[in-house]
Amino acid sequence: MSGPTNQSILVVGGGMSGMTAAIEAAEAGYEVYLVEKNPYLGGRVAQLNLYFPKLCPPYCGLEINFRRIKQNPKIRVFTMAQVESITGEEGNFEVTVLLRPRYVNEKCTCCGKCAEATTLEIDNPFNYGMDRVKAAYLPHDMAFPMRYVIDPVLVQSSEAQKVKESCPYDAIDLSMEPKTITLSVGSIVWATGWNPYDAKKLDTYGFGVYPDVITNVMMERMAANNGPTQGKIVRPSTGQPPKNVAFIQCAGSRDENHLPFCSSICCLASMKQATYVRDQLPDSKVYIFYIDIRATDRYEDFYSKIKQDEGIVFFKGKVAKIFPSETSDQLILRVENTMTEELMEMPFDLVVLATGMEPSTARDLLPIPVAYDDYQFLPALTVQPGIYAAGCVRSPLNVAESVQDGTSAAIRAIKSIVGRR
Ligand SMILES: Cc1cc2nc3c(=O)[nH]c(=O)nc-3n(C[C@H](O)[C@H](O)[C@H](O)COP(=O)(O)OP(=O)(O)OC[C@H]3O[C@@H](n4cnc5c(N)ncnc54)[C@H](O)[C@@H]3O)c2cc1C
Ligand code: SF4
Ligand code: SF4
Repeated sequence: MSGPTNQSILVVGGGMSGMTAAIEAAEAGYEVYLVEKNPYLGGRVAQLNLYFPKLCPPYCGLEINFRRIKQNPKIRVFTMAQVESITGEEGNFEVTVLLRPRYVNEKCTCCGKCAEATTLEIDNPFNYGMDRVKAAYLPHDMAFPMRYVIDPVLVQSSEAQKVKESCPYDAIDLSMEPKTITLSVGSIVWATGWNPYDAKKLDTYGFGVYPDVITNVMMERMAANNGPTQGKIVRPSTGQPPKNVAFIQCAGSRDENHLPFCSSICCLASMKQATYVRDQLPDSKVYIFYIDIRATDRYEDFYSKIKQDEGIVFFKGKVAKIFPSETSDQLILRVENTMTEELMEMPFDLVVLATGMEPSTARDLLPIPVAYDDYQFLPALTVQPGIYAAGCVRSPLNVAESVQDGTSAAIRAIKSIVGRR
């Protein structure tokens, strides 16, 4: 080993698993750098409407973590940041991190004057592009850190100076440039999470062609009060509430041509979303088309409760194709009833594809050679000595499991440097 062991820990990814690892390590007395690609912490959980099984708002859990991070001087958070390189070894890593410019400094009070001053808009990434936001924007109303972002489109436009001058607090700095910093750390937790599988690859389902075909993550945003429809579940084509909604399970999952594995979460997610529909639209009917339902252990009770609702039909069948009706504005699902082998065509107002969870490492590899499994997950808790994986980058997990995983990774990261000063 070269030199004394560095006693700092780097956590990459500020979702539930990464935030947990960072907080646990900092509260045990270690200096922590938390590096997050988005302009805010919270990961995909920040984009959920409610959590199963208790169906409580995700901000209950997230806010506690934000507070613990804010109060702990041992945690340094870098948002809009990504690791570019890692060199060295357990106990002594050198990590370079690219910081993208936010163009807004810490003087921002979120007054919103910059957004009023611009006419430019971008697709809203927080709402999966279902609506648009001004190119000077707060990523979402509970964002941490609570600070605006100026999109590069605006910085490069003729409106840039006018927008800068609109800020009463001198919080806009158009001269910010991308910056690379170097961090010296003893160990690393990699917690970069998951991405929704790209539904455009499911060509028989017409996602991106038929507006009333949406995905499960879009449904979370649609049902959320701070979402694109202010929580109203509607058909995107008409803006009207659907009378019936189909959920298609295993959309691209357990399929050799797409994601060959089971994401283990999406059955429960669809059941949860069925309650969103039924609570808001009591006259509606929901069909869940499935191959098998995955709801084990303590989630059995949740499944049993959902089954008691006569407005929710669990239909064992494989949806082969979605196409527009010739006689109405509905979508037709061609379904093979697995129990009877009958081929059926059923009309629906809104279709939700229960797409699976792809590891972030399917698109964005670690900057050093490490072992991935056949599906690009980092399968082992110990990626290599001194580097530990946590959360959905390791396997599809629910929030409680991601938190446990974050804690395990923090313990390993601490153990790797403890007593080696
Ligand atoms: C439709 C749906 C509904 C769900 N509903 C529930 C539910 O009700 N209850 C429940 O328990 N679970 C639910 N889940 C699962 C839940 O979303 C996950 O358990 C949780 O997101 C896992 O957290 P994570 O930190 O591992 O990953 P993520 O939430 O993905 O966080 C990873 C973070 O890392 C960041 N990142 C990615 N790459 C990089 C990089 N290269 N550098 C820096 N940062 C990076 C990301 O921006 C993100 O902030 C649901 C999943 C789906 C698909
Ligand atoms: S950057 Fe300035 S104008 Fe924009 S929200 Fe922040 S304080 Fe207000
Ligand atoms: S959790 Fe359900 S919907 Fe998701 S892949 Fe597994 S069986 Fe299919």
